[in-house]
Amino acid sequence: MSQLLWDTSEKLRALLCELVSWDSITLTEGETTFAPKVLDKLRELAYFQDHPSHLQLHDAGLGRHVVTALYKHPEAVETVVLISHFDTVQTEEYGSLQALAYFPEELTKKLMENPDDLPETARIDLETGKYLFGRGTMDMKMGLALHMQLLEKASREEWPINLVLTTVPDEEVNSAGMRAAVPQLVRIREEFGLSYKLFLNSEPSFSQKPLDIAEYIYSGTIGKIMPAALFYGKETHVGEPMKGMTANYIASYLTQRMEWNPLFRESDLGESTPLPVSLQQKDLKMSYSTQTPYRAVALYNVFLLKRTAAEVMDLFEQVATEAMGALNVSYKMICDREQVSGVGEVKVLRYEQLLAHATKKLGIAEVERLKNETLQNEEWDDREKSLRIVDNLMIQCQELAPATVLLFAPPYYPAVNTSEHPLVKEVVELMKKSAQSFGNQIDQIHYFNGICDLSYVNYDDSGKGWTAFESNTPVWGDTYSIPFEDMAQLKGPVLNVGPFGKDAHQRTERLHVDSAFVEMPVMLETLVKSLY
Ligand SMILES: [Zn+2]
Repeated sequence: MSQLLWDTSEKLRALLCELVSWDSITLTEGETTFAPKVLDKLRELAYFQDHPSHLQLHDAGLGRHVVTALYKHPEAVETVVLISHFDTVQTEEYGSLQALAYFPEELTKKLMENPDDLPETARIDLETGKYLFGRGTMDMKMGLALHMQLLEKASREEWPINLVLTTVPDEEVNSAGMRAAVPQLVRIREEFGLSYKLFLNSEPSFSQKPLDIAEYIYSGTIGKIMPAALFYGKETHVGEPMKGMTANYIASYLTQRMEWNPLFRESDLGESTPLPVSLQQKDLKMSYSTQTPYRAVALYNVFLLKRTAAEVMDLFEQVATEAMGALNVSYKMICDREQVSGVGEVKVLRYEQLLAHATKKLGIAEVERLKNETLQNEEWDDREKSLRIVDNLMIQCQELAPATVLLFAPPYYPAVNTSEHPLVKEVVELMKKSAQSFGNQIDQIHYFNGICDLSYVNYDDSGKGWTAFESNTPVWGDTYSIPFEDMAQLKGPVLNVGPFGKDAHQRTERLHVDSAFVEMPVMLETLVKSLY
């Protein structure tokens, strides 16, 4: 029997460094060339030379691809889906060492020359010799390397279980990769007669506090959704301020009530979500003039544990209605004081209501034309396009003004949790024991707090709360969609078990070498073997 390619710590470390050297920052050329390179690498395995059709590339848009690699045991039905992402965040923060960001061995050596350039905790870690620095080492090319190792071992030793390695682009921006992978996973399941027993991601274990060195496994992932608003006031000249209403004035009422609003805090299993904040607030004037800004937008971040899009939209509408109620009262007092009649009360409406109004007034064809006009601006991202579609429709429907129009902007990550699943309970106990054998302690977290692709499996929403997302997301079906129906078909518990590291997305991103190259291979093998 010939040697395995990735079975020892040294070989696994070399594999990781090779994967890291293929730079793959989200939305760069490297992200598009990464998938074919992984495919070539997997082709080196004897199993895929015998089963070339089990290695597949799937379109994920903008020249990017998802890779799936199926190891199928002839008799097994039970299947583990191994999920990873191969895109990384940018490297500007490495400064003069930027060129080395993709070469972990060299970078780590170079850092040794001037350890005092690092923040103290990173310096201390560096000097232990137990960490490998570099972009993508912990987040999360190590997870992919571990999955590749599992695939090789399972296929060579003919483990009586199936594995579907699934590695995707675009996790760090829009999760286009995972959203493209979901229908493919449904298809592969049908085509090969598989039953998905577990969705196993291997994002790294994140420290909970700066000096925290505990390791975690996660039996779910936090969700995120972005309620947004377009504020449409009435224009005037600065010399006649009472003849109009600025959109900034309207926006200030809603933003003040959204930021840190505890109504949006959710708690479950002893964990709770961070409070909402605004991510953007701006007026839509292209340049300075003495015409007052009468259109503005705001974007808010809301984390989720259990709520659906419909529930968030209901809450958002409630907060907006209160905010505009308060505005209308204050504004009335100002109008009385200034002895003017004013521009009227600010209404609150949802995007779906605006759309229905516009369709009735202008006809479907004209509404589609207005939408397409906006969508053609390629320099705008999905958020900007969403807001501009609402703006474009409101310009045609000024009889509704002054108004605050509520919508959702992409991306949307539903929350997932399978802590109560019997299989998850068993595996969590097993992983705790396995970690103990290395003298480590592992704690369970119910919701991975870093946002991850597990959001798109095991979707459970019998009340169809997602339809509120569909009908209030202006770019839905054009530049953004979520395969909710397919996601609901991917029923199966989720777990995230990955290597320990620190400072993801920082220049001090580093991976713990014993965790990555010694402990994780044993733990993941133990995990998969416990499933058959
Ligand atoms: Zn990640």
